[in-house]
Amino acid sequence: MKTKILHKINIEYTQGDITKQPDIEAIVNAANAYLKPGGGVAGAIHCAAGIELEKECAKYAPIKVGQAVITKAYNLPNKYVIHCLGPRYKIDKPEEKLLADCYINSLKIAEENKIFSVAFPSISTGAFGYPIEEATNVVIETIKILAPKLKFVKKIRFVLFSRYDFEVYNRIISEKL
Ligand code: ADP
Repeated sequence: MKTKILHKINIEYTQGDITKQPDIEAIVNAANAYLKPGGGVAGAIHCAAGIELEKECAKYAPIKVGQAVITKAYNLPNKYVIHCLGPRYKIDKPEEKLLADCYINSLKIAEENKIFSVAFPSISTGAFGYPIEEATNVVIETIKILAPKLKFVKKIRFVLFSRYDFEVYNRIISEKL
């Protein structure tokens, strides 16, 4: 786990599994429009949370690209799941803005719910094909703009599944934050 402080916000990044962050209040799901289990992050989150999560999700589906909705976390060790639909690379345009919207809208919901800590996976860089370097640049630029405006969120953790993705975050955060 690595940490940087940005406007009194703890920015952490680690290699790991988004479903195994028990010290975090809200985890973010790289969801699909229908808020169904599917593969990748969404599959892992629904598997760990249980069928009750799918039932609650059905009330809010479908969601639009860049939109975020919040649910309870059920059997996960967290309090909430914030579900966000990332853009499909080269399909949903403008993809940079839509990816930034995911992080903006997820943190907006976190603020509205007075959430202290949020963990993000790398949205759109799996099945949706967004290159990790490009996505990470968008994420870090967006966080730099948002950090001074946050009142309740004091910890943001990026959970990277692969060693390679972690190394990309390490390089870009070292350069930009
Ligand atoms: P998207 O459809 O938004 O691209 P994916 O779930 O396919 O979302 O993948 C997003 C990223 O999350 C990929 O880098 C993938 O390797 C990673 N990932 C997959 N499973 C997990 C997990 N359990 N925890 C954290 N990251 C994960």
